[in-house]
Amino acid sequence: MERVLLIRYGEISLKGRNRRQFENRLHENIVSALSALDKNARDRVSRSHGRFYVAGLQTAQLETQAIDVLSRVPGIVAISPGFAVDSDLEAIKKAAISAVKLAMEDLSQPVTFKVDTRRADKSFPLTSPEVNQELGAAILRNVPGIGVDVHNPSIHLTVEIRPGRTYIYRGQVPGPGGLPVGTSGRGILLLSGGIDSPAAGYLAMKRGVAVDALHFWSYPITGVRARDKVVDICKVLRKYSPDLRLLVAPFTKIQTEIMDKCPEKYRVIIMRRMMMRVASSICRDVGGLAIFTGDNLGQVASQTLESLRVIGSVSEYPVLRPLLCFDKVETVRLAQQIGTYDISILPYEDCCSVFVPKHPVTKPRLDAAEEAEEFLDVDALVEECATNTEVFDLG
Ligand code: ATP
Ligand code: MG
Repeated sequence: MERVLLIRYGEISLKGRNRRQFENRLHENIVSALSALDKNARDRVSRSHGRFYVAGLQTAQLETQAIDVLSRVPGIVAISPGFAVDSDLEAIKKAAISAVKLAMEDLSQPVTFKVDTRRADKSFPLTSPEVNQELGAAILRNVPGIGVDVHNPSIHLTVEIRPGRTYIYRGQVPGPGGLPVGTSGRGILLLSGGIDSPAAGYLAMKRGVAVDALHFWSYPITGVRARDKVVDICKVLRKYSPDLRLLVAPFTKIQTEIMDKCPEKYRVIIMRRMMMRVASSICRDVGGLAIFTGDNLGQVASQTLESLRVIGSVSEYPVLRPLLCFDKVETVRLAQQIGTYDISILPYEDCCSVFVPKHPVTKPRLDAAEEAEEFLDVDALVEECATNTEVFDLG
């Protein structure tokens, strides 16, 4: 009896001609995610019948860790732990009983089960309903206190009989769904230390975008702890995409210049426009296709439709805002689910909180914004900031 994990992926099997490419990418991402646990990950992952299989995980602990890691790989719909045995009825019964007992460890009483058999190997001597009956009876005989419930079982056992090999799975752990990271190209995520932008980055990754996070850091106006907060957020986001990079852009000079030279009401708008320009330059350098932000319609003055238009108009790339129409509670729930929330609510100030005027403009005008920038050497400032942006070593 060998431990196996069955990995189901949904959407990507619908993509016709791109399917191969998507499956290859998911394969690589699965191997890369598991490599953190297991040096031989590549040898353990195989693909057939529109699924992936992970075989040969030696211990229950390793299996639990692997399920945990895989549940964060975009493109994966569900992971089912189970066993592989020879296609022999007695071996299958033993495995089914073990699987039910294992599943029961996580459940409170009373426990019910259902067996669903699929017989891909038509030469197997019993039909699927007969196997269901045999296994059901064996489980009832060997597992005290368990009952059958075909409609709403607490343990759902699926049995797949293939030529020579049979797989017995217990239940499903959900994955993120979506598309494998890397199948939608590269994007720049404007990452602050707040609640929203990490959640926006997660959604971009979940739709297959390989993300480079870009943080504008105004040292010493904002301290090292503010940057470290972003570093910690990136470490969490890397659980969904191990290749995520953090780029830190030195923003102090631009911010100081804006404070000195631009009208207070337009400060935040100009600051965001400068961020967009630098982000565009970096996006070009890394071969990106879009800029992602955590903007949320109407949340603050710089996120009215008027503001978003005036800010977005300086970007060379589409500015995409996955959270635009979320309610705050929805964003908070998502941030909690992905594990960034507790870091985001730490109180260190980011460059914007020290900078926001009492009465920012809520309906900025494009011509007024352009006029407000006249005293800045925009091109030189952008170039200097982009040139001095560095990849931060996330370890
Ligand atoms: P967040 O929770 O992501 O900070 P927010 O609702 O607080 O979002 P703002 O602070 O107004 O919104 O920022 C809007 C968006 O601008 C952020 O979601 C983020 O994408 C980007 N942004 C803001 N500050 C920075 C920064 N210092 N570096 C990089 N991007 C930033
Ligand atoms: Mg913020």
